[in-house]
Amino acid sequence: MTDTQMLDGLGRRIEYLRMSVTDRCDFRCVYCMAEDMTFLPRQQILTLEEQLRLARLFVSQGVGKIRLTGGEPVVRKGIVGLCEQIAALPGLRELVMTTNGSQLVSMAEPLARAGVKRLNISLDSLDKEKFHAITRTGQLHKVLDGIEAARAAGFERLKLNTVVMKGRNADEVPALVDYALQRGMDITFIEEMPLGDVGRSRSEAFCASDEVRGMIEQRYGLIDSAETSGGPARYARVEGHPESRIGFISPHSNNFCATCNRVRMTVEGRLLLCLGHENSIDLRALVRRYPESDEPVLRAISNALKHKPEKHEFDVNEVQLVRFMNATGG
Ligand code: SAM
Ligand code: SF4
Repeated sequence: MTDTQMLDGLGRRIEYLRMSVTDRCDFRCVYCMAEDMTFLPRQQILTLEEQLRLARLFVSQGVGKIRLTGGEPVVRKGIVGLCEQIAALPGLRELVMTTNGSQLVSMAEPLARAGVKRLNISLDSLDKEKFHAITRTGQLHKVLDGIEAARAAGFERLKLNTVVMKGRNADEVPALVDYALQRGMDITFIEEMPLGDVGRSRSEAFCASDEVRGMIEQRYGLIDSAETSGGPARYARVEGHPESRIGFISPHSNNFCATCNRVRMTVEGRLLLCLGHENSIDLRALVRRYPESDEPVLRAISNALKHKPEKHEFDVNEVQLVRFMNATGG
């Protein structure tokens, strides 16, 4: 490890950290959580100070992009202050966030002012009943109003995320594309991943990215784009709409693993080296054991990276990982 670069055991440069700031959420999306969830007790989750310290350590080693996620990051008390402090870290290129949009009516502007550059907002349906059925507790109008508030707040870019499920929202793919195009926003369609037992079979609803693409191509011409974020998304542009990108996330394919540039940190401070593997180290224990000294924490991170798996493997028919997406930080 040099002063400014983190390389894993395969020489991949790690420069993107996804940090979960809470496992809690005001929604209970069917693909993410069970209806009746038990959340972590407070002492098990990183304090805001610990979150900031770990963010600072990663940035000091060359991480240029941090995404705050959860659970729902906006429900974490003190989130705006945390954003302000992380955004100000010297060397950080951009702080971004993934949110369900439920509180953006009041929070979009404070988040933008705090230095959050871009938002990914989850939107699975434009039909209020279907939206409620998928999120179990969500109200569509609040999210749509939140999206308008985010558009007015001056973020550099807004992107929608849609998990596509047959029998629930797959028929809405063209309408969601129209919604994004009309607003000059990007939209990414995500294949459901088998994270945690959510009390239903996932294989029936599974909708592959190729099928989603086919639905869009019935209405629009798509031009493949070579743009990449170093992650699982492939992008296309829509003929006549240069301002929007359509993304397809196919976590079941692992052809992007060779260029993987990211690691994740759970809200308990577990550093996950790959979304599809359990390999992790307990950074919470380290920051609590060494409150004054960063060196042992940095050494542990560097050693852990040597074990970042080469690639992941998922099987939609099986729950392979016992953790839920909200605890992982999607
Ligand atoms: N609460 C925020 C939200 O919903 O945007 C941030 C956290 S959420 C876990 C991050 C992303 O993961 C969301 O876009 C969500 O749709 C996606 N997600 C959650 N569970 C998933 C699963 N099992 N498969 C694929 N995507 C999933
Ligand atoms: Fe909450 Fe996001 Fe999970 Fe939905 S996907 S339950 S909004 S954390």
